[in-house]
Amino acid sequence: MAAKVEQLIKPKKFRRGLDLGTPGAVAAQPIEDIPLPPRVYVPLKQHRGALCESKVSPGDQVKIGQLLGESADPEAAPIHAPVSGKVVSVADHPDPYGRMILTVTIENDGAEEWLAPPAEDPQFQQKKLSAMMRAVRLSGWVVPRSGRPVYTMLAPPERPTAYIFLVGIPKIKPVRLLVISTLDLEPTMACNQRLLIEALEDIKSGAEVIKKMVGAKESLTVIDQGRSLNGSSPTSPLGADYQSVSLKNRYPVAWPELLTTALTGLEVPWPDGEPRDVGVLILEADTVLGVLEAIRSGRPQIDRIISVTGPEMTPRNLRVRLGTPLRDIIDYVGGDLDNVGKIVVGGLMSGYAQYTDLVPVTKETLAVSLMAKNELVAFSEHICIKCGRCVGVCPMRLLPNVITNFCEFGHFADAADAELFKCIECGCCAYVCPAKRPLVHYIKHGKAEVTAMRTAT
Ligand code: SF4
Ligand code: SF4
Repeated sequence: MAAKVEQLIKPKKFRRGLDLGTPGAVAAQPIEDIPLPPRVYVPLKQHRGALCESKVSPGDQVKIGQLLGESADPEAAPIHAPVSGKVVSVADHPDPYGRMILTVTIENDGAEEWLAPPAEDPQFQQKKLSAMMRAVRLSGWVVPRSGRPVYTMLAPPERPTAYIFLVGIPKIKPVRLLVISTLDLEPTMACNQRLLIEALEDIKSGAEVIKKMVGAKESLTVIDQGRSLNGSSPTSPLGADYQSVSLKNRYPVAWPELLTTALTGLEVPWPDGEPRDVGVLILEADTVLGVLEAIRSGRPQIDRIISVTGPEMTPRNLRVRLGTPLRDIIDYVGGDLDNVGKIVVGGLMSGYAQYTDLVPVTKETLAVSLMAKNELVAFSEHICIKCGRCVGVCPMRLLPNVITNFCEFGHFADAADAELFKCIECGCCAYVCPAKRPLVHYIKHGKAEVTAMRTAT
């Protein structure tokens, strides 16, 4: 098996992007459970598909795991109650992307009563493939960065007709290589690295189940170069039966579209494709555990592990119920809101700044990053000085200066021709720009304008 994996792996050094250092302090902190919030705000859209239709009304009593909303859209994931208690409203509420989204607000009664408590099935590995797929779909697990329901990534390549009904995705490529990534997307995040240490056996079980589901012959685990696991060799953390590759986590190589190329040398067709188009399926450790729990015990997604970093505080890795407002998390970690200049959901490179601390944690939340007032960087309207630094760091080999000039002056069709949509919004270009131009803002605005133009025609 080892020889076959090695045939597929042709690592290619990732030279672009930025060396932002390793998440030393946050990676050293164990995962801890945050106290239950008194009130949760559960948006009915925590995925990239359509908004879910509400299944509850104000005044209803709900139990943990009870369905709050669902949609027939295959890109939508069902949403479950993260706490037991009383529904106090079903109304619009701000979400981490700055949108007003229909949200179920639940007053937590603290009883922790489940609709159907998760019960481990010792024979879970013997389940039929269709039963496994159904369990993952019903669990509502979502890949945080892309907002994609996990089940849409797991369909086997040659499906009986039943899968077309279950999955609703017309064409799925075979998986030659399953990659379990324990790299975190930004240096302020450490969820996957912590899980490698704290849940190694479950990651192994999950990898085996997923391999069976997608029909992958080979699998390997990617770990951060130079990090050892409980003193074991960093090149074989999962034992002799499991292949692993250690990579330098140079930002943003951990993003699946770039990790695929760094591991295999194969280019992912972007933006319309995915790693599976070149025979690679990349899942992060937390997603693997979500799939395992869904199949093993039927547990729906009701929480997420997030990293919290900020000024004058110890970074933390917290297991948080979905819908917990940022205010409760900041209170718990002892963040001094008077000194906080900006609250960012996500990492400092690719996250979203918030205008209210009532925004809740969702299935797409990876981290909460607090910035002190004296750390804020002011963008300027300065013209591009044509230094070319943004071009040198762009991991997608774009011309950010050209694209953003088009967007700034309203030439959106020209920006689209210059491969605007290939941009993954990593923020590397804006980070190095000496003129402090808001390059990613221009790009996001350009994408919104082009999308609006295309849908109008
Ligand atoms: S243009 Fe897009 S992909 Fe390239 S560095 Fe800037 S944000 Fe990243
Ligand atoms: S880094 Fe900034 S100033 Fe330099 S070329 Fe790019 S956009 Fe222009």
